[in-house]
Amino acid sequence: MAFDVQEIRKDFPILHREVNGHPLVYLDNAATSQKPQQVIDALVHYYSHYNANIHRGVHTLSQEATDAYEIARKKIQEHFNIEHKEEVIFTSGTTQGINLVAHGFSEFLNQGDEVIVSALEHHSNIVPWQMLCERTGAILKVIPMDVDGTLVLSEFEQLLSSNTKLVFVNHISNALGIINPIAEIIEKAHAVGASVLIDGAQSCSHIKPDLRALNCDFYVTSAHKMCGPTGVGILYGKREWLSKLPPYQGGGEMIKEVTFEKTTYADLPHKFEAGTPNIAGGIGFGAALDYLNGIGFDAIAQYETELLNYATEELLKIEGVTIYGTGSEKTSVISFNIEGIHPYDIGTIVDKLGIAVRTGHHCAQPIMDFYNIPGTVRASFAFYNTLEEVDRLVAAVKKAKMMLS
Ligand SMILES: *Cc1c(COP(=O)(O)O)cnc(C)c1O
Repeated sequence: MAFDVQEIRKDFPILHREVNGHPLVYLDNAATSQKPQQVIDALVHYYSHYNANIHRGVHTLSQEATDAYEIARKKIQEHFNIEHKEEVIFTSGTTQGINLVAHGFSEFLNQGDEVIVSALEHHSNIVPWQMLCERTGAILKVIPMDVDGTLVLSEFEQLLSSNTKLVFVNHISNALGIINPIAEIIEKAHAVGASVLIDGAQSCSHIKPDLRALNCDFYVTSAHKMCGPTGVGILYGKREWLSKLPPYQGGGEMIKEVTFEKTTYADLPHKFEAGTPNIAGGIGFGAALDYLNGIGFDAIAQYETELLNYATEELLKIEGVTIYGTGSEKTSVISFNIEGIHPYDIGTIVDKLGIAVRTGHHCAQPIMDFYNIPGTVRASFAFYNTLEEVDRLVAAVKKAKMMLS
């Protein structure tokens, strides 16, 4: 089936609303994606037909809900090419997945052990590890970045040693859109015996990763970045690691047997899924994967590259524009500034024209510090955006520049 953006846009009710008297142009996809009717319907159908708690009841509704939730887990397993279904842990999102692993690693790190992060990370993939280092006395090292927004891999090799226990990097930087060479990073880390966690929150909507081929030890992502609901995501972990890691939270669902003397924990994946989960969210996540795979990730990537190239060309025609993150391996995120104008002011004016962009540090302050700027304007494109919307962005930015300079 040919890629038809006008047909695709019909699936997204929100894209047909107006903002400040103008048709909405939604270019904040790196913060969260919009939801197609198919995902909204899955949520509504669950709540209106078989809402019940899962894994506990013998009654029909509970069984239907449990089946739907477990089918969603199976879809996630297949989508990410994960070997065992119990290696898919439902979480509330990327942030929780990272905290779960960082919490568990307290038991495996000693004073003087080293962990490595990249300069391009979201705060969610920095702060939990700093907290871990404070608890354990481990040392946090940073893979530096270049001016074009790419990681300096030769420096990474210098940082690796037999002291390195864990490396955590994102697949795609949410602030710059740069795609990191994760296959190479995983291979080099494994060569010194270190484990690797990949933050897939920004890449999951653009690239379908093959986790078995990548061979990472952990992978985390959020459904809301890939057309799914908020408040649900996954942690993938290799079975050997998940078996060793201690539970993150205690409660119902994660136990085998509880007495006041001793509690034994449930098997994977339930050991890490305490309490009633986001059942509707999990089911909606499955519906989002069906939707995206129905379009196809190759078609999505090809179309988004077209949007990226066109928007880059047109924005650079505006005098005084600087784009941050110019490396060649890049997805459809453009972080830019106009000389002498604060990004917040540009964001405010383009919003008056119906265009949603992000301004600020994008939860990645170290990157902004590197460029010595307070923040950027970030336009992030999804497969449901159009070339005409790029034109509207460019016209709005020109207008903002005229008004502000
Ligand atoms: C969005 C994002 C996160 C945080 O995801 P949450 O859904 O807020 O937990 C982490 N890392 C990257 C790269 C992101 O884009």
